Order: sequence, then C-alpha cells, then structure tokens
Amino acid sequence: MHPTKKVYIAHTGGTIGMQPGNHGWAPKRGAIRTALDNAQFLHRPGLPDYDLEEFEPLLDSAEMVPDDWLRIGRRIEAKLPDYDGIVILHGTDTMAYTASALAFMLENLRRPVVLTGSQVPLCLPRNDAWLNVMTSMMIAANEPIPEVCVFFDDKLYRGCRTRKVDCDSFAAFSSPNYPPLAEAGVSIEVDWKHVRIAPAGERAIRLHERMDSNVGVLWLFPGIREEFLRNFLRPPLKGAVIQSYGLGNGPTSSRGFTDALREATERGVVLVNCTQCLAGRVSDDDYETGRGMAAAGMINGFDMTPEAALTKLSYLFGLGLSSERVRAEMQRDLRGELSSVPVKYANQ
Ligand code: ASP
Repeated sequence: MHPTKKVYIAHTGGTIGMQPGNHGWAPKRGAIRTALDNAQFLHRPGLPDYDLEEFEPLLDSAEMVPDDWLRIGRRIEAKLPDYDGIVILHGTDTMAYTASALAFMLENLRRPVVLTGSQVPLCLPRNDAWLNVMTSMMIAANEPIPEVCVFFDDKLYRGCRTRKVDCDSFAAFSSPNYPPLAEAGVSIEVDWKHVRIAPAGERAIRLHERMDSNVGVLWLFPGIREEFLRNFLRPPLKGAVIQSYGLGNGPTSSRGFTDALREATERGVVLVNCTQCLAGRVSDDDYETGRGMAAAGMINGFDMTPEAALTKLSYLFGLGLSSERVRAEMQRDLRGELSSVPVKYANQ
C-alpha cells in the first residue's frame, strides 16, 4: 500500500468560487470548502487527501497587488515541506502575473505549485472547475515537477510562460513560446524533457519577499506622443517593459522618441524590449527600427511574456541590484522564463 498523498489547497478567490450577488459575480466564503468536502468523487482511493485554506479576503484577481503574491508565497514556503504539492485556486484575470511573480520569488522549489481556476464557477452545473481542480490536485500530488505551473483546460504550463489569451473559452491560457509541461487526456502525460531540473543539494525553499513596484509596461502605438513617453519614463520608474512591434521594432526615426528612451536609460532606467505579438521573440538587429531601439539603450527581452518581464524587473530591483546588474540578469534565464535561442531549435 502506498501512503496517501497530500496536497495543500489555498483558495485565494476568483470565478471558481464565486456566486451571483447584487452587483455581479463575487467570491463567496465557504463555497469551495462545501463543494470539495461534499464531492464524493474527490474522496476516493487514487485521489490525494487535502487541507484547504480559504484566504481572507477572497479576491477577484483583478484586485490583486504584489502584497497578495507575498501572502501566497509565504503560505507556499510554510506549507510545501509538509505536502507533496500545492494547489492555488486563483482568478484567471491576473493568474499569469501571480504565477510569474511566484516563479521568481520562490527559490529552491522541489515540488509542484499548481495555480488553477475556472471560467465558469463551481456552483453552475456545466463548468470547467471540477476538472481543473481535480487534475491539478492529482498533478500536485503525483508529479514531482519542481516548478510554479498553471493548469487549465487539460494542459499544464510553466507559470512564467503563460498568458491569459481568451476570456470566453475554457482554453483561457496559453504558453505561446514554450510547450506544455503536461497534457491530461485519458492519462496525465508529463513531458519531462521540458520540465526544469530540481535544484541540487538540500537547501530549503526560500521566498524572496521584496518586490519593487517602481516598474511598468508601455504598449507602443502609432503616433505615441513624446511627452506621454517622457511622463511615463519619469522617476520613480526604475524599469519598464516596452511592448514593441513585431520583432522588436519602434518608431526610431523620431528623434523625440529615441531621445526620451536614451535619456531614461542613461538615468539608469532599465527598458526591456518585448514584442506585442503573442508568439515569437525579439530579434532587435533585423530591422533599422529594431537596431534603433537597442541603440537607445533598450535590452532584448527575447521571448519573455510581458508578465514575466515585468515581475522579473520587480524581483531583481527588489533584491537591491544596481541597474547594470538588473540589465544583465534580465537577459539571463533564471526560472525557465526566457530562451535566447528559439525552443524548437534548442530542444532538437
Ligand atoms: N475576474 C475573475 C478573477 O480573475 C475572473 C476569473 O477568475 O476567471 O478573479
């Protein structure tokens, strides 16, 4: 007889546990506990035991701030040593940000942390919630994946590679630049060659608690005015993701545009070039308009998602690193968030 596996479930909020109220759908205390405890199919051999904690307050993830990532991170740090894995029930709207932030904040992770939620709440008869919760519990209990992941619509993704891509379909998430870590069909198949290797040695899980909020994201658009750009780049901004066109291009024949970027980088602001495209990676030397971005001091964000690049900036400045160090670390792969060579070639 194998000992029964055990997972810790943190319910932070989100549609999954919402019920209709006077002002629209809102998280409902006790809804998840009652549903899980009464679901007979969850209490059968083969499924793990669980301890469930309901956060106070339960949040629509649109309300979440970095202190909420910290609260979740502290529970993971405290609980993971006593469980086979952890499931975080979370709203879908900012799940990709939380998953990316946690990936950076947690060091020496040896067991799975799986974020999931649903597009349709558990209280409605036709929902995606049960399968997401149940499969996440099974993965967290049985698959020793040493990563922060997102499970949604039968796919397990590396958290810091995810984006919310659809607000209608059950396939709400995608990992456009990295293959899924696992697929759940009739059986759950983990693609181990794409899973990170657990850290060597015996060092305990560690949470980096400081995230610097002086970071931002700017989406370029044709005709963006220099004064808007300059206002955005003003102190206290320390680092920003600039979402450029295509392979990393911007309107660099405009002196005002490049001067504003250059002056900011000379002041030590770290500007990371990420593409507006859903998939692909920045290659800032293909076009004049891309080279101009690099010449203005921007660094290459390669194939990082904006969510990963933003939270990575916040994490690195939170460590107290100098701008020079942040620039260097941003271009290095820390948690599997970045491939400087396209993955399909790197893995051949
Ligand atoms: N607004 C909700 C949230 O992110 C949406 C969801 O969970 O799907 O909390």
